Amino acid sequence: MSVANILKFKGTNVVTVQPSQSIRDAVDVLAKHRIGAVVVTNEAGAVKGVLSERDVVRHLAQESNAGFDQPVSRAMTERVVTCGLHDSIEEIMEMMTRGRFRHVPVVEDDRLVGIVSIGDVVRRKIEAAELEVVAMREYIATG
Ligand code: AMP
Repeated sequence: MSVANILKFKGTNVVTVQPSQSIRDAVDVLAKHRIGAVVVTNEAGAVKGVLSERDVVRHLAQESNAGFDQPVSRAMTERVVTCGLHDSIEEIMEMMTRGRFRHVPVVEDDRLVGIVSIGDVVRRKIEAAELEVVAMREYIATG
C-alpha cells in the first residue's frame, strides 16, 4: 500500500500555520481540528517546519505563559522529514520509528499534497490484517 492509496481514503487536506503566527493561534488550530501536529508553511506554501503538541509542551515548560505570545518559529522543528506519493506504508513506518515522530508531510514537486499520521498507518495495517483473515478463512473453507 502506497502513500497515494492512503490519501485516496483520507483526502489531501493539510492543516497549516505560518511561522510568524503565535503559539496561541497554533494551539487553537490544534484544538479546533482535534489534531496533534500542524505543518508550518510560508506564504508561497513551502514547508518550513512542523509543530506538534510535544513542541508546544516543551516550549511552554521553558517559557511559561509568555510562550503563548511567541511565534511558531520559536518552537517548531525545522528539519522536516517528508515523503512522496510513491513511498510505501512500510517506508513511512520506518521513518516514524527511526525519527520518533508520528506525522509525515507528503511533498510532490515542492508542493505539500497531504499528511500521513501514525493513526492513518495503524488503521490501514488493521484493515490489511482483517482482509488477510477473511482470505485465510475462505481458503480454509474451500480447501
Ligand atoms: P510527533 O510525534 O509527530 O507529535 O512529534 C514529535 C517531535 O518530532 C516534535 O518535536 C515534532 O516537531 C517532530 N516531528 C514531527 N513530525 C516530524 C517530521 N515529519 N520530521 C521531523 N520532525 C518531526
